[in-house]
Amino acid sequence: MWPFDKRCASCGGRSRNLVAAPSGASTAHGSRVCQPCADRLGKEATARIAERQALEAQSRRISEAQAARRKADAERRRLEEQETHHRKQEAEAKQQEAWKQFADAARFSEAGMRLLMGFVGQWPAQLQPADFAGQGISTLLEQVREYQGRPHPKADTYPEYQVIDGQIGRASNDFLDLKICVAHPDKNQNPWPQVPGLTVFQLIRRYSEWPLSKLVFALPRVHEIFSIGPLSQMTDVPRTELMIEVYKGVEIALFDVYEALPNGRITDAMVEEKLKSLAQPSESITSPLPP
Ligand SMILES: [Zn+2]
Repeated sequence: MWPFDKRCASCGGRSRNLVAAPSGASTAHGSRVCQPCADRLGKEATARIAERQALEAQSRRISEAQAARRKADAERRRLEEQETHHRKQEAEAKQQEAWKQFADAARFSEAGMRLLMGFVGQWPAQLQPADFAGQGISTLLEQVREYQGRPHPKADTYPEYQVIDGQIGRASNDFLDLKICVAHPDKNQNPWPQVPGLTVFQLIRRYSEWPLSKLVFALPRVHEIFSIGPLSQMTDVPRTELMIEVYKGVEIALFDVYEALPNGRITDAMVEEKLKSLAQPSESITSPLPP
């Protein structure tokens, strides 16, 4: 074979001096190419390597940036969690402080305060613990007691509750309950709109979940327990008993709010305002009945 018969594996041209294709060239392994092709292929290979390195560097920068971002996110989350935890601790401390202030002001024993706190939960934001100071508390207790024992306004019936199989049941009075049903926007949100008694009981239960209602209406009973009996009795107070006290008070308050309506709708704000006024020992809660 003539030397000139040797062909470059890249351009196919004849050449006397074929050299090994540079490593990384796009020719088959072990190919021999002419010098110009070797130069070109070498440059191409170098460019490809440079390009790959650039891509690698770029992807490294991206993953480094991602890692930095993840780290920053984790740090931010950690700080947020710390802040949340701190705020939670602060809120808890505030709660403890409010209950303690209340116990001091109302001269409630630690055990009485604990029972009340366990039943009510959060200290009602609408009330100031200091308001319970001095003679105010006994006036308040009397007032609330009297209020819970009232008949329905403009009627001679009383709120009536019974515990049956551990469940609290309410004696309904369709004639009275219908008034509340008509005046309360919740009437459309209950599954039995055609049963006034159920609608009203549902409303009473909802308002009775408010810490404000629980505190105001459980207060006289809890006070009674701790002023007459030994402290060991505290474990014997069933939750249902306290809940019934709250239901009774809320029921009267609901009808009271209704009777005070010129015409229109009962709102949560009105009920809240009513309950708040009951918890003010310095103010008289007895309003003159309309003639
Ligand atoms: Zn060539």
